[in-house]
Amino acid sequence: MKTANIINVSGGKDSTATLLLAIERNTKNITPVFADTGNEHEQTYQYLDYLEQRLGLEIERVKADFSKQIARKRDLTMAKWREEKIDESIIERAISVLEPTGNPFLDLCLWKGRFPSMKARFCTEELKVLPINQFIEPMLKEYRAIYSWQGVRADESPSRAKLPEIEVEFGDIEEGKGLFNYRPILSWSATEVFEFHRKHGVEWNPLYEQGMGRVGCMPCVNCNKTELRKIARQFPDVIERLREWEEIISIASKRQSSTFFPAVTDAMVKGDDRIFYKTHGIDRIAEWALTARGGRQFDLLGDDEGSVCHSVYGLCE
Ligand code: SF4
Repeated sequence: MKTANIINVSGGKDSTATLLLAIERNTKNITPVFADTGNEHEQTYQYLDYLEQRLGLEIERVKADFSKQIARKRDLTMAKWREEKIDESIIERAISVLEPTGNPFLDLCLWKGRFPSMKARFCTEELKVLPINQFIEPMLKEYRAIYSWQGVRADESPSRAKLPEIEVEFGDIEEGKGLFNYRPILSWSATEVFEFHRKHGVEWNPLYEQGMGRVGCMPCVNCNKTELRKIARQFPDVIERLREWEEIISIASKRQSSTFFPAVTDAMVKGDDRIFYKTHGIDRIAEWALTARGGRQFDLLGDDEGSVCHSVYGLCE
């Protein structure tokens, strides 16, 4: 039986360099795979098309499907809400939005009734890890060994610095049988990664030229203030999409309120001098991100802290 090589491609520089390395080494049985979260920038999809054309290969695109979970939620959760005497108009509105949209990120949030967060980061598992595992599973019957190539670098984060170059998911590396994680660019710097693109005459994702430090979900739930500022300035359509998503997920949530980033609650003064509190979502956070230092700070990562997704699989750049 043969060996297969799955190259996890995100549209970012590190996974592209990993794919180029596999090609440079004349690796047999290469299958590049991209797990589409539905929260990617349009330019990333275009970049994947470019890569396919430039390298003369097909990138398999996989995406999670939550239609069954949403249907179950429509039936079971709504019955539970009725038992809990939730207002019938709230239930009707929730039912009206509880339909699969085909966008994995939005559908995942519809099912969960909330957005993922830094503390509840269920998105990587549901949108990236599981769809890729489901893609690999049938191949295990056909191949003796499968190497899952992951474009992670040690200098990206302390958790990635601890990763081994080869890791056994299951099986035996000596016998060459099983599923192994392979991280061939672990010791590379970002400069080497860009240089490797140049060496192969391959462009990198144009989002880097537009000031993005990372590509992948736009935005990631781990986004920092600097990144959000750039997104708010350069890609107002992304803010608009998040506003629409917040409206939909709010309707589907029991609390009738759900925000992409931790909610902002402002004290407001009514005409009769009474104070009340108003919750805001993406517009208020984006407005804050556009301000310089100072003023009220919100619960995003700090200005210059790294915002790398902590997935050890390197599935989100
Ligand atoms: S990039 Fe961020 S938002 Fe997207 S799946 Fe990974 S952790 Fe979640």
